[in-house]
Amino acid sequence: MSTLRFNLVQEAFNHQVVPAQSLPKNIAALYGENVFNLDTMRRCMSRSVYKKVQEAIAAGKAIDPEIAESVALAMKKWAMKKGATHYTHWFHPLNDGTAEKHDSFIQKDGPYKVIEEFNGKLLVQQEPDASSFPNGGIRNTFEARGYSAWDPSSPAFIVDDTLCIPTIFISYTGEALDYKTPLLKSLSAVCEAAKETCGFFVNDVQRVTSNLGWEQEYFLVDEALFSARPDLMMCGRTIMGHESAKNQQLEDHYFGSIPKRVVEYMKDLELEAYKLGIPLKTRHNEVAPNQFEFAPIYEETNLAVDHNLVLMDLMRKVAPKHHFRVLLHEKPFAGINGSGKHCNWSLTTDTGINLFAPGKHPKDNLLFVTFLVNTLMAVHKHNALLKASVASAGNAYRLGAHEAPPAIISVFLGTQLTQLLADFEKEDSEDGLKMKAKSRLNLNVSIIPELMLDNTDRNRTSPFAFTGNRFEFRAAGSSANCASSMIVLNTAVAGQLMDFNAAMKERMIRGESKEQALYALLREYIKIAKPVCFEGNGYSDEWKAEASRRGLDCETSIPLQYDAYLKPQSIDLFAQTKVLNEKELAARNEVKWETYTKKIQIEARVLGDLALNHIVPVAIKYQSSLLDNLFKLKTLYKDEDYQELSVDKSEKIKKIEYYINQIQKLTDAMVEARKVANRITNEREKAIAYHDTVEPYFEKIRNLIDELELMVDNELWPLPKYRELLFIR
Ligand code: ADP
Ligand code: MG
Repeated sequence: MSTLRFNLVQEAFNHQVVPAQSLPKNIAALYGENVFNLDTMRRCMSRSVYKKVQEAIAAGKAIDPEIAESVALAMKKWAMKKGATHYTHWFHPLNDGTAEKHDSFIQKDGPYKVIEEFNGKLLVQQEPDASSFPNGGIRNTFEARGYSAWDPSSPAFIVDDTLCIPTIFISYTGEALDYKTPLLKSLSAVCEAAKETCGFFVNDVQRVTSNLGWEQEYFLVDEALFSARPDLMMCGRTIMGHESAKNQQLEDHYFGSIPKRVVEYMKDLELEAYKLGIPLKTRHNEVAPNQFEFAPIYEETNLAVDHNLVLMDLMRKVAPKHHFRVLLHEKPFAGINGSGKHCNWSLTTDTGINLFAPGKHPKDNLLFVTFLVNTLMAVHKHNALLKASVASAGNAYRLGAHEAPPAIISVFLGTQLTQLLADFEKEDSEDGLKMKAKSRLNLNVSIIPELMLDNTDRNRTSPFAFTGNRFEFRAAGSSANCASSMIVLNTAVAGQLMDFNAAMKERMIRGESKEQALYALLREYIKIAKPVCFEGNGYSDEWKAEASRRGLDCETSIPLQYDAYLKPQSIDLFAQTKVLNEKELAARNEVKWETYTKKIQIEARVLGDLALNHIVPVAIKYQSSLLDNLFKLKTLYKDEDYQELSVDKSEKIKKIEYYINQIQKLTDAMVEARKVANRITNEREKAIAYHDTVEPYFEKIRNLIDELELMVDNELWPLPKYRELLFIR
């Protein structure tokens, strides 16, 4: 074996279980101890200040300067007591990560002295020099200023020695440069619209909350082996590697017993997560070898998004202690499942109603049916936009790959709800319908909760499935900031509910009763939205043809999927809900195209380097040893004997020659295609060129290399193989 690979495999094999810090018996006692949440505030601040902060947070209002001053003082005192020396405005730039610039609390106090200071101004707003964050042209350099502004609805927290203050990030001219700003706007839009919708049924709802429970899938690999795979280090995924003889075909990994080394990692991570108030609930093996999942108890969407980002960071930070590296990429290994981040989403009221829970009483049921049908409408109308919200270079390798939802957004409702909507739609007399629907709804819906919670009725191939009391959006990628899909989903539903509320009022002004208006509208909506409902196998080719007939978006090219953001219907939606204006949408698309191009560009470079500098030389070496062997045999045998016994070897030599040649040719052609694409200045066109002309080489080159992997002497092969990477003991 190549000495480097051999040593690293040995090193990985020798990695022992590293015991986790012991989880205290009473998790509740340390839960959230590093978070400046309302509970901490109540203990650290005067009652009047606390009350004002609480009210502002509850109402989603800004906190006035004097109050901010008191909060800042209390925050600093609390943080310093916990050992914090620095603080940072923590925000989500448009790059699937988080940004933080740590500043110390110290201020000069005379020539030789410093004091520790933190005030309301520093808490509320800062001007980070962040001109190199992606901005899609909104901040040309002469106006490269951006502001970060405190988001009081997500509590500050301490990581290591730093107090992290969640903030939004906007340009000098007011445009959003992050995920949080539009997320908060979309949440407030859906809250307002849903509150008004609730008003047609009950009159005590003051606030509607959007909830998110994400399920974070990930892979672990041993750090020694990771360090010998430049593709894992640079791209987060393997861009070559022949399938291991055994992978997931025995279905022995999913929910199997978790390897001891991994359990200890999970425990350490959970401890850190609990201290930060992240309510991790579930840990288990996923389908592929080395694949695992964490899921928390669901929370308010803005908080859940922050918690997911903090957790992804923690996952990376805790891994080295256990000699692991975390892979959050959507498709780290070919031939086995990739990773997603299912987003479980619901709307609840401050009066304790889950608007997606079918409920027992007819009145509640109509509320439920109203929200259900409006969600169908939103997903139907904006199915292309929802797909664009999860589109990325990494997720493209996963979606539609017979393991994850296809690149078509449809809704799965289950047999009961499908029947209920069909019945609803069939009625022709509105009065009759009104009477019958009431009793029928009562009858049918009361049995739904039990049935829906049964796993047999959960279509795993659907990208957007109703799962009993919530929708599960399964198309999001594992490395993504789930704000992206949550912005679109909440905005789409907000826009739809606004239209519904307006149509209701209009009909009632025209003299229709509330019931008449409601039934008429819901029936109309069911008819319109029906094409987005699909109960069958989403992986099948028939569905692709059928979906296209139904007018659903079937675009598979990522750069073209992003166009959905700039269609008039999307621009109108974002304007109607005041979530993003046209300039922001255009700028954000520039960032998406640019990011796509860069990811493919990096992969292409790494592939070229590995192919020509790592693989081809090794193949030549092996081929030479075969040639050498042939020459020596020739001296030993008579001509006719030699002819016969050399056939296989010379065939092999020729085959290797062919592969080497093809790899060289294709790599040269790929480099050429890149050069052509690089000359394009329009970001959209460039991304399309990368998609259409560069990326197609990846699989072709990889297949040749994977063939060589099977032929070349195992001892010479330089890269850790799948069978070595994928089985943690
Ligand atoms: P699965 O069987 O899909 O793995 P789980 O029961 O593990 O489902 O739940 C997955 C996620 O869904 C968890 O984060 C859970 O808290 C969340 N969840 C459950 N109910 C709701 C709800 N009403 N709204 C939003 N998320 C929810
Ligand atoms: Mg799930």
